[in-house]
Amino acid sequence: MTTLEELLRPDLRGREAYGAPQLDVPVALNTNESSYEVPQTVVDAIVRRVGEVAPTLNRYPDREFAAVREALAAYLSSTTGCSIGSDQVWAANGSNEVLQHLVQAFGGAERTALGFTPSYSMHPIISRGIGMTWIDGMRSSDPGRFDVSADLAAEQAREVDPHVVFLCSPNNPTGTALGLDVVEAVYDAAPHAIIVVDEAYAEFARPGTPSAVTLLPGRERLVVTRTMSKAFAFAGVRVGYLAADPELTTLLRLVRLPYHLSAVTQAVACAALEHTGDMLGMVEAIKASRDALVDGLTSLGLTPVPSDANFVLVGGFPDEHATWQALLEHGVLVRDVGIPHHLRITAGTPEETQAVLSALREVIATPSQKEPSS
Ligand code: PMP
Repeated sequence: MTTLEELLRPDLRGREAYGAPQLDVPVALNTNESSYEVPQTVVDAIVRRVGEVAPTLNRYPDREFAAVREALAAYLSSTTGCSIGSDQVWAANGSNEVLQHLVQAFGGAERTALGFTPSYSMHPIISRGIGMTWIDGMRSSDPGRFDVSADLAAEQAREVDPHVVFLCSPNNPTGTALGLDVVEAVYDAAPHAIIVVDEAYAEFARPGTPSAVTLLPGRERLVVTRTMSKAFAFAGVRVGYLAADPELTTLLRLVRLPYHLSAVTQAVACAALEHTGDMLGMVEAIKASRDALVDGLTSLGLTPVPSDANFVLVGGFPDEHATWQALLEHGVLVRDVGIPHHLRITAGTPEETQAVLSALREVIATPSQKEPSS
């Protein structure tokens, strides 16, 4: 009898699915969600909007999600200082689906995607999911460094001549934002590619970090993706979006499923986008927690990587998996991202920051956890 494994597409056999553990723990700092609940003013607006839309759920939603696109364009324009039209905006169920639309339209089987590893683990999974060849580019010739130089990135882009390039700024899991010179250099070096800058964590960047949205004019192959899952504290709703040339967003209609954003999602997103001040109200507090986390980790003798995001990658563990397990036994869930001697910790509330730091203090006080073995 033919097994399901044998029926599976050959290029998917043996692959691993995305699998961040979802465990019920007192301190969950492993998926870069916001630790703060949705503010009551927004909860009230959501309930009102959903109540209005509920009787009409017998009909399909607005396929063009025009109100959502307009609200997102207004938000991007006001925060980046660029004039972004609603025809430049596309949205889907999380930025993961936005990324999937991009590779479906501009990638596909027998085409190549390039990223600079370590970066967001879903970029290769989404690309391979539609049959693309994935190339793991290098961030630096020094494996201990996580920043990307414009020259090295451009050199690899020129060599691979890919159809899609993923840049991630601030980069998950390392935390640091990219210079715009990297985006410009890669754009010029890969003339046959769509250049995707994944800015899921842009709102947490340190002052003076420009968005790649400012580079959009005159670059029709450039796409900047964003999400409401992080700074907007709205991960459960599943809304991600992008800004790009209007012609590019038109082409994405070729691959999306009709009515992909439900009427409920659209109503909830619009309610939230009418209250962006409240929704983003905890961003400064989260940045303060991140900075406190960096200071606390440094005082523990660990080596945090500079972060523009709502998480910190920290090195200095002899056996990161043993530390991950020991933290879990203290009720603290962080992320083992597969980088030797490192763990990634989301910045939560001040109490959660203290909890992870005290758990770490106890864990690394045990002899086997002190010094990196290499
Ligand atoms: N991009 C990056 C860099 C991320 O870290 C994440 C989520 N962890 C996403 C995109 C996807 O987020 P969502 O689908 O919730 O918008």
